[in-house]
Amino acid sequence: MGFGKYDPQQVEEKWQERWTESRCFEVEADASRPKYYVLEMFPYPSGKIHMGHVRNYSIGDVVARYKRMRGMNVLHPMGWDAFGLPAENAAIKNKTHPAAWTYANIADMRRQLKRLGYSYDWRRELATCRPEYYKWEQQFFLKLLEKGLVYRKNSPVNWCEGCNTVLANEQVEEGRCWRCDGEVEQKQLEQWFLKITAYAEELIDDLKLLDGGWPERVITMQQNWIGKSVGAQLTFQVKGSAETIEVFTTRPDTLCGATFMSLAAEHPLVEKLIKGRPEAERVRAFCRDVANMDRIRRGADDLEKEGVFTGAYCVNPLTGRDMPIHVANFVLMGYGTGAVMAVPAHDQRDFEFARKYDLPMQVVIQPPGNKGGETLDASTMTAAYVDPGILVNSGRFDGQENNAAKQAIVDHLAQNNLAKPTVHYRLRDWGVSRQRFWGAPIPVVHCERCGIVPVPDSQLPVRLPEDAQAREDGRSPLPLLSSFVNTTCPTCGGPARRETDTMDTFMESSWYFMRYTSARKEDGPFDPAALKYWMPVDQYIGGIEHAILHLLYSRFYVKALRDLGYTELAEPFQNLLTQGMVLKDGAKMSKSKGNVVDPNSMIERYGADATRLFILFASPPEKDLEWSDAGIEGAYRFLNRVWRLAEELADAGALAPLGPVVALSELGGEPSGPARDLRRKEHDTVRKVTRAMENKFQFNTAIAALMELVNEMYALKDGLKDTPQGAATLSSALSTVLTLLSPVAPHLCEELWGCMGHREHLATLSWPGFDESALALDEIELVVQVNGKVRGRLMVPAAADQEAVRQVAMTHENVLRHLEGKAIRKLIVVPGKLVNVVAG
Ligand SMILES: [Zn+2]
Ligand SMILES: [Zn+2]
Repeated sequence: MGFGKYDPQQVEEKWQERWTESRCFEVEADASRPKYYVLEMFPYPSGKIHMGHVRNYSIGDVVARYKRMRGMNVLHPMGWDAFGLPAENAAIKNKTHPAAWTYANIADMRRQLKRLGYSYDWRRELATCRPEYYKWEQQFFLKLLEKGLVYRKNSPVNWCEGCNTVLANEQVEEGRCWRCDGEVEQKQLEQWFLKITAYAEELIDDLKLLDGGWPERVITMQQNWIGKSVGAQLTFQVKGSAETIEVFTTRPDTLCGATFMSLAAEHPLVEKLIKGRPEAERVRAFCRDVANMDRIRRGADDLEKEGVFTGAYCVNPLTGRDMPIHVANFVLMGYGTGAVMAVPAHDQRDFEFARKYDLPMQVVIQPPGNKGGETLDASTMTAAYVDPGILVNSGRFDGQENNAAKQAIVDHLAQNNLAKPTVHYRLRDWGVSRQRFWGAPIPVVHCERCGIVPVPDSQLPVRLPEDAQAREDGRSPLPLLSSFVNTTCPTCGGPARRETDTMDTFMESSWYFMRYTSARKEDGPFDPAALKYWMPVDQYIGGIEHAILHLLYSRFYVKALRDLGYTELAEPFQNLLTQGMVLKDGAKMSKSKGNVVDPNSMIERYGADATRLFILFASPPEKDLEWSDAGIEGAYRFLNRVWRLAEELADAGALAPLGPVVALSELGGEPSGPARDLRRKEHDTVRKVTRAMENKFQFNTAIAALMELVNEMYALKDGLKDTPQGAATLSSALSTVLTLLSPVAPHLCEELWGCMGHREHLATLSWPGFDESALALDEIELVVQVNGKVRGRLMVPAAADQEAVRQVAMTHENVLRHLEGKAIRKLIVVPGKLVNVVAG
């Protein structure tokens, strides 16, 4: 009769409906069961899924299905990171509201994800642009404001006049706006900040908790971004003035080599230093130019170092020598104190600057003596010497090892209050305000009488108007929308204006994973019991491009929410998997390269199961994956091969709803011959697949083992299908294939599982174990040595005793030859390994 041709469209739609009907992926917190929370980074609703999404979510889905079969209560949700600029641009282009564009895209993408058969609890779906989501974000913002963790500050920003908005550093390309290509200038603007720096130390320290669970390189990237450096703050007296210059340095050991001072163009002392000097106008012009450069370029290593002399001097606190004070383009006000003690002999930037302007250079560290007797001479050096060594030209500190001298020099200066040990971080506070429309409104009002006033909790959410039109010129319509802007002050009742800046979209993605635990809750952001049960995320999966900001902001946000009393959690993500990219012809898929493979057309042609199987088989999850047409055809062929095997066995009447890995009693006792071989292969496959899943989800290894088992079934089926024991063995082995393959290709496996006569869903079945004794081999290989040298190898029955082994060994031709004319003194049998004959 046959099952007919394998038709993935029909099979997949059928099972997607059944899973929805049976609600088998919907979960609730249940303290009596162990939980497992697996999460893929949620997508921006661009409207179309791409292969990167398919890879990310397929990995997550296999993990979810596997853990469910291991008996865990698995939370696996999906949602939408729905605010952001693309929606605004699309709305301008299509003369619509960003909300309309966004919700239509969400509907499209949800349909595409459902078509892939992912086992999400769709009841928990959330979209960050919905007021019932951002309401809580506004509440957090106000609580953080109250706690002093949110503040407003005038600070330099990248400003595009064409778009009339602030640009993030990433949106400035070679000094130009990524959107309109207009020139980007630096402007001072009132901005809202989150005080992430208050958590810098904890963010560094708690990386220890992630050791082993996160990729090492991500931990390193986080460390470098936070950039903790231990050093000292040193004080330099300005000559002929009461002013001092404070400098942070990690190299106080090189202080005697500090021959000049470099200030940032924005340093507040500059104007005082140049006042009334002939240099004043030149310095001011230079400062204006530098202030207009974008900050990324100013910080770049390859920046051409430029500066100007102020005419003023300060005094080196150790040597007492005068140091000319310059303004330099590479010194940034935001980092350290905006002043750098220049040590040209031992710092490369200072070296370049000193050579260009012919400034004095003093060597104060010589390489250690064992380095071939190299002696540095300032007049002939071609680059700064930055390695360790021994102090010279440093007075009382001469001869000290430079790292030891750091402490000694700071201690010495501290006696006169000229130094104090200081820890410095590279991390800056998080600027969260944007002059954009499509974002969560910042919930404060500006009152002429009361200043900045928080919107009372009872008036949250401050809704983003859904009737405003996005403006042609890209500006936010909010400042001109009187129905939004004009309001009354909650404190004095007088007229007030609403804040029209919206929040950075990173604000929404920093806590969505917590909201999933109680996504439908209306009277609070979280159900405390559900939050406590489900968090932390046991396995987080996403691209390496989020290794810094998203993960850092989320880690900070959880700590801040902890300090507001919402949770006791310190870290949100226990384990992190950063999946590799999907490439085609060696390059990342992109429209501009014309190498995009559309998942929807692959699903139409080969089905969701084959697409999932290929993408999981082609490469281990953390490595890049090269798309291959032959590869997906191969995946499709394999699924057809499983289908036909099941069909053939069913037609032969050899299939019974047995197994997987059935007990010996179901086989009618210990099998022998090919039945025994197949059973061994079956149990060995369970062992291999389980090990591959447990060892960092090596799906490709697991799938390869399943392919081998299917091959073995094809090779042995004709000799087995006609005997009761053989048929039972085949049924068990097929059940094992379907069970172990079901996380990867769930639809086909469910269908064939049903065809075998099983009643329950595979999706709710337990993962099989394996029987050690079934792995035992009938025969094992023994090495035979004569006087310690290998002279032969033997196959002996696994159960053979010492005497039997001895007898077989003494019949081996080559062994006998080496014993010729010798007397056997001793014969040692190491069971399962070797036989050693001592003769002479
Ligand atoms: Zn622009
Ligand atoms: Zn007021």
